[in-house]
Amino acid sequence: MKLYPITKAKLWLRCLIAGEKCIACGEMNTRGQGLLCRACEDDLKRAHLLICPDCNRYARDCVCPSRIMQNSNLDVLIKYAFYDADLRDSALNRVIRRLKRIPDRLAFSYFAAILSQPLASLAAARSFTKDNTVIAHIPRSKRTIARDGHDQAEMLAYAIAKRSGFKHIALLRRQKHGKQQKYLHLDERVENVKGMFGISKRCDIAGKNVVLVDDLVTTGATVSEAARILYEAGAAYVACVCIAKSDKKI
Ligand SMILES: [Zn+2]
Ligand SMILES: [Zn+2]
Repeated sequence: MKLYPITKAKLWLRCLIAGEKCIACGEMNTRGQGLLCRACEDDLKRAHLLICPDCNRYARDCVCPSRIMQNSNLDVLIKYAFYDADLRDSALNRVIRRLKRIPDRLAFSYFAAILSQPLASLAAARSFTKDNTVIAHIPRSKRTIARDGHDQAEMLAYAIAKRSGFKHIALLRRQKHGKQQKYLHLDERVENVKGMFGISKRCDIAGKNVVLVDDLVTTGATVSEAARILYEAGAAYVACVCIAKSDKKI
């Protein structure tokens, strides 16, 4: 995976001045073990163990997609936790905001390790092999990458690929910047993502399984559009993995 110069600089600076910090709140982690301070660990665990209203399973065991995703042949959404956008100070919301700004490899590896477990179950159930399955990510726009210096979905996908043994390929190309999804209503979101992605010309995915990775899934409009493009290009099956899914029933 290519690291942008600004990303390298951020990583270097962080090692130099930060020492060991909690991956969620960024405060010094005085426990001297693990990646999270005690308060954030407890808070994240709560989100991890929220019950899905549709399948009555813990978030860590739930693979329910959003309603929009179901219309796009996406029937599996593996997630670490459910999140509530209104709880801005929750550890989950903080860690997601932080990973947009800071390319924290340890944090991505932390989530990849947990998410790789349900992915391994899916892989066993659907006979995924290293030859017939690839990991892809939902790419940010060039403008966003230029601002933040890294693409958090790409880093998460890379970490998941490393853990799971499947190959990570930058399959999708972002063709337009679009408006920020979070400010749009459901119908506007679906319209906004139309034509957003293309397939990288060098990739042949005919007959392949694709595991689509994103950090955050709210309505599922973006991953659904990406899945539509992948199916059009001949993908056999598309599943999705994210850190967090909105707990709202959309
Ligand atoms: Zn913390
Ligand atoms: Zn569920």
